Amino acid sequence: MIAPFARPLYVMLKPVGSRCNLACQYCYYQEKGNTLLSEKLLEEFTRQYLEAQTMPQVLFTWHGGEPLLRPLSFYKKALELQRRYGQGLQIDNCLQTNGTLLTDEWCQFLRDNNFLVGISIDGPQYMHNSFRGTSWHDVMRGISLLQKYDVQWNAMATVNAANAEHPVELYRFFHHIGCEFLQFTPIVIPPPVPEGNVGKTSVSPAQWGHFLCAVYDEWVQHDVGKLFVQLFDATLANWTGTPPGICSMAPTCGHAAIMEADGSVYSCDHFVFPEYRLGNIRQHTITSMLYSERQQQFGQQKRDALPRQCRECRFLFACHGECPKNRFTADRYGNYGLNYLCEGYHQFFIHVADDMDFMANELKANRSPANIIAHKDKSLKNNKAK
Ligand code: SF4
Ligand code: SF4
Repeated sequence: MIAPFARPLYVMLKPVGSRCNLACQYCYYQEKGNTLLSEKLLEEFTRQYLEAQTMPQVLFTWHGGEPLLRPLSFYKKALELQRRYGQGLQIDNCLQTNGTLLTDEWCQFLRDNNFLVGISIDGPQYMHNSFRGTSWHDVMRGISLLQKYDVQWNAMATVNAANAEHPVELYRFFHHIGCEFLQFTPIVIPPPVPEGNVGKTSVSPAQWGHFLCAVYDEWVQHDVGKLFVQLFDATLANWTGTPPGICSMAPTCGHAAIMEADGSVYSCDHFVFPEYRLGNIRQHTITSMLYSERQQQFGQQKRDALPRQCRECRFLFACHGECPKNRFTADRYGNYGLNYLCEGYHQFFIHVADDMDFMANELKANRSPANIIAHKDKSLKNNKAK
């Protein structure tokens, strides 16, 4: 039986709408509304959101645009409201930022209030600045400040036309700067018309496959259990039959809505279009919108719309056709709706299948999946000795 809210109810916030101090070339949010979230709506949201929770842990995610364009006083107010309406709940806050506006004062605040900070950075300077203006030095200064104040942080790197060919260099860069949690997001800008070309910042399916395999090979030799790569974790989770911590690798969507600064709630951050608007918290409760038939359908559609090639795929359990926003190509039977990145994912799953079997077995036997490092080392030595 499917229990729709067995997982915590989750709505991401856009406190500044699409306002940002950068203008990254591949940004999917630039044309969205740029209203500021008022304190009145923030209070309404906080009250409803906390009342709607079915589990004791609650996550607030502050997303943009660039959420640090709001002053510190806004977030102080937000925490005050969380304390007022969230008694007895364990509340965590996560902030996704480009990092360029971080200061000592921000970092002290973030550390004192246990924020987890996600920093968008696409690798070393020449890769990062390809599509993110000239912001690299400012981002790096932000990361140093986070480290100085011991703020928990992770890196979110897009994989795009400029850095996809340099997987090992990219991965080593993150290792070198002391990153412990790394998330890769493939840039896919859909063609404006069917049969057209994807946007020029996009990664190609073959590049994506090669990128993942090359980064995986670095990771599996040295860093399992030390540096967490979200997609590898999610793959292992699916291999063991546990829910992956990332929606694109889950069988259905629908658990992660977003609220725009005007109070409108949408099915997902990547579907902020009128047809996916669930309502506005001024007129509807968060619970009624997230439990609505429309949102349930949006969630199920991910599974229901899978093309035949996916349904027959031996890696469906690990891939689930990835994110529906990327499904705009034809499968081998001519059915519309295959994921543009399919070839890359398929290559990656073939590449890691034996290792995933090994790590899943280790987990089943209550041993550490990091044993894969020694296992691979031994196999390599045996092969050399032959
Ligand atoms: S549409 Fe994509 S981003 Fe949105 S919930 Fe589904 S998998 Fe996640
Ligand atoms: S690897 Fe390709 S065919 Fe297999 S489930 Fe993923 S998108 Fe579908």
